[in-house]
Formats: sequence, C-alpha cells, structure tokens
Amino acid sequence: MEHIAIIGNGISGITAARHIRKLSNKKITVISSETDYFFSRTALMYVYMGHMKFKHTQPYENWFWDKNDIALKKGFVKQIDASQKTLIFSDGEQLTFDKLIIATGSKPNKFGWPGQDLKGVVSLYHKQDLDAIETHDCFSITEYMAIEHFGITKPGEAWKAIEEGIIEKSGALPINPSGGLIGLGHPVGATGIRMVLDGAKQTTDNAEDMQINGAKTIATYNVGGSGTTNVSFIVSTK
Ligand SMILES: Cc1cc2nc3c(=O)[nH]c(=O)nc-3n(C[C@H](O)[C@H](O)[C@H](O)COP(=O)(O)OP(=O)(O)OC[C@H]3O[C@@H](n4cnc5c(N)ncnc54)[C@H](O)[C@@H]3O)c2cc1C
Repeated sequence: MEHIAIIGNGISGITAARHIRKLSNKKITVISSETDYFFSRTALMYVYMGHMKFKHTQPYENWFWDKNDIALKKGFVKQIDASQKTLIFSDGEQLTFDKLIIATGSKPNKFGWPGQDLKGVVSLYHKQDLDAIETHDCFSITEYMAIEHFGITKPGEAWKAIEEGIIEKSGALPINPSGGLIGLGHPVGATGIRMVLDGAKQTTDNAEDMQINGAKTIATYNVGGSGTTNVSFIVSTK
C-alpha cells in the first residue's frame, strides 16, 4: 500500500491528511516535533493570556487519529534522502515513504531591529516558546498584580489563573516552580540573580525537583522600590 508521509501537524499537514483519508485508504503518517496532536496555533496566545487551556486548542479528540487510521509520529526530521525515499530523524531513526508532503510552516519574520539576533531573544510562535516565569512575589498581592500585568488574565481576574491551575507546575504557564520568595527567602538584590540562575537551571535540565519538563525558555520579573524599578530577563537555550 502506498505510504504518504507528511512532515508537520499544523493546519496544512492535518488538512492534507484528512482529505487524503476521505479519498483513499492509503497509509498516512503525520510527523511533528512540536506536539503529539494537532492544535490551533492561532489560539496559542489565548493560552498564554489564560483565557483558554491548551486542551481547548485541540479540535479533535485523541481517538480521532486511530479511528481514521492516520498514524502520528513525534520526532524532528533532520534529513530527507529523496533517492532512497527515506526520512532521517534527529535520533537516527528512519522512515520510508512513497510520497512526501512537506508542511513545516513558516518562520518568525525579523526586520533588522537592534538586538533581534542576540542570544535569548525569541518569538512567541511555538508551544515551547515560554515554559515558565519566575516572578517577584514579595507579597501575595504582588504576584496577583504580576499575573495580570503579564497578560495571563484580565485586570482583577488573577484569581482565575490560580483556580484554573494555569500557573501550577503542570499548568499552561507555570509561575515560580522554585517556590518563590517563601520557598527561597528574599535577600533583596540577590533575588533577581537567583531568578536568572533558576532560569539557567531550568533551561539546562538541572532544576531537579522544580524542573519543568523540557523547559527551554524562562522569563524572570523582579521588582524593587514598590514597582519603581522593574527588571525582566528571558533565559533561553533554544
Ligand atoms: C500567535 C499566533 C497567532 C496567529 N493568529 C492567526 C490568525 O488569527 N489568523 C490566521 O489566519 N493566522 C494566524 N496565525 C498564523 C497561522 O497560525 C499559520 O499561518 C498556520 O499555523 C500555518 O500552518 P501550517 O500548517 O502551514 O504550519 P505550522 O502551524 O507552523 O505547523 C508546522 C509544524 O511542522 C513542525 N515541523 C517543522 N519542521 C519540522 C521538522 N523538520 N520535523 C518535524 N516537524 C517539523 C512544526 O514544529 C509545526 O508543528 C497566527 C500565528 C501565531 C504564531
């Protein structure tokens, strides 16, 4: 049976897979390095803002793919050997195909802004683009205010981010996996340094019990002088 491999499980790859299935019984494999299942990229910003949970961005139930005999494979295609009709994954695994559809999406645009190519300057694009935030929670209200200022909830609705589990370690955007200032104490100036160090640990998989699985990008937000001095870093190994 002819095997059609599709690289990319975004709207293009998935639409192609669904139409091929409607028209034929060919073997179909959809490949993505980003997520197990298709999700609506356009809804990603609403997840970051806390208006939706990530699961709400998945228009198909997980059983849909088995039922329609569409195989899903998570992995990054490093090389295409067109003469052998073989895909080579970053872990060395190989997959042969008869026909190949490349639906790998686009890349964020840049316009020559100063600093745009500095290490750690990233775009909001993939699900993995922001994994967690370390924020200055010197008082409970400070973290509530920060949640709203990050845009995770509307003003006055920070409590929703807590009620809905958005900022939990397993949530859509964990805040203070370190335990924050209660967890670590608050040697004032040193707190900001500690946050950056936590970001470095998280993004190099060295954060032990506080590790967010697979974290590659962490934001920090430190406050001094009742909000007159604010410092933020993005720590990234992407
Ligand atoms: C925050 C945000 C908001 C947006 N809002 C809108 C909107 O309101 N309206 C609108 O029309 N458009 C919007 N867009 C644009 C829209 O999301 C994209 O045009 C669309 O997702 C492109 O779909 P695609 O299937 O071509 O690629 P993608 O959705 O980019 O999917 C490609 C997939 O291929 C995977 N991939 C790439 N290379 C490899 C490889 N070598 N191996 C394995 N997998 C690989 C990627 O990880 C990705 O999962 C928005 C985009 C963003 C980021």
